[in-house]
Amino acid sequence: MNDKEFVIHPPPQHNELLSSWLVRVARANDVATTSFTNMHFKEFQKNILWQRDLDIWCPESLLDKLANKSHLPKQQIFDMTLKSYEGKLRRKIHGKNRTHFIQSLGNYAHIKRNGGLRFCPLCLANDLIPYFRKEWRLSFYTACLEHKCFLLNRCPNCNSPLTLSKSYQEKDFTFCYKCGMDLKKINIIQEKDCKLEAIIVLMKVLNNGWGNKLGQTVQSIEYFDFLKQLNKMIYLWENTEEISEKILFSKPLIKSAGYEDFLSSREQHSLYLASYHLISSTSNFQQYIQKNKIYDCYIYKDI
Ligand SMILES: [Zn+2]
Ligand SMILES: [Zn+2]
Repeated sequence: MNDKEFVIHPPPQHNELLSSWLVRVARANDVATTSFTNMHFKEFQKNILWQRDLDIWCPESLLDKLANKSHLPKQQIFDMTLKSYEGKLRRKIHGKNRTHFIQSLGNYAHIKRNGGLRFCPLCLANDLIPYFRKEWRLSFYTACLEHKCFLLNRCPNCNSPLTLSKSYQEKDFTFCYKCGMDLKKINIIQEKDCKLEAIIVLMKVLNNGWGNKLGQTVQSIEYFDFLKQLNKMIYLWENTEEISEKILFSKPLIKSAGYEDFLSSREQHSLYLASYHLISSTSNFQQYIQKNKIYDCYIYKDI
């Protein structure tokens, strides 16, 4: 198997995550996901594809092999990884440390401890062939633009984070691997007044590679560096004067660099609405730093 092509290789779908596609390939070939990848990628340590965060880690040699086995261009495989955001979202995306703006999976062997992979039950339900989207791993992508609902990051029945490589009694990955709940049939509230402008604009900045920071056009890297700093001022430094009506955090706040992993989609949504409100207008930002008595030397600290 190691030198053979995939017998069946369903095409990737729009913005599909590499891990989502590879699990679908294994299922199409009627083999359990880990056995399938162990058979096809013998030069890699057993099970390692699923013990790591494949969508960030995927090394060149694995990309080459996936391209050969599926007859897809290597670029198309690479575009399914989160590494494809390198140079636009962050300078480096290698998975050696936490990548800001990408929700971490909290890998513990095969099991994912954090709810780093979010999903919209209505998208999964409406898909002809259900799949997981790249943008569902982004920290600011907190709600579904199509269905106007907050994304979920765990099974609502047993609270387990999703682990795509594992399955419940041979069912596909739209069922919780732990309790078997059908993730497509979750009752979710669609909120008409769910403000989506921050998500829409931040996705544009990411896709275009540039954005409007305090009235100036800057490269997206600089934009996201500054947005990260604004989030830190709002959340970690608790500077919330002037924007307090926008934010919604449960106390106690998590005082660690990975604080975003602990926020609910709703809380994170309000954080990004607030930081987007500041980055998009010089006057909003000026009023904010004056009200909170933030000096220039702190604004660019640790960027
Ligand atoms: Zn949706
Ligand atoms: Zn469950």
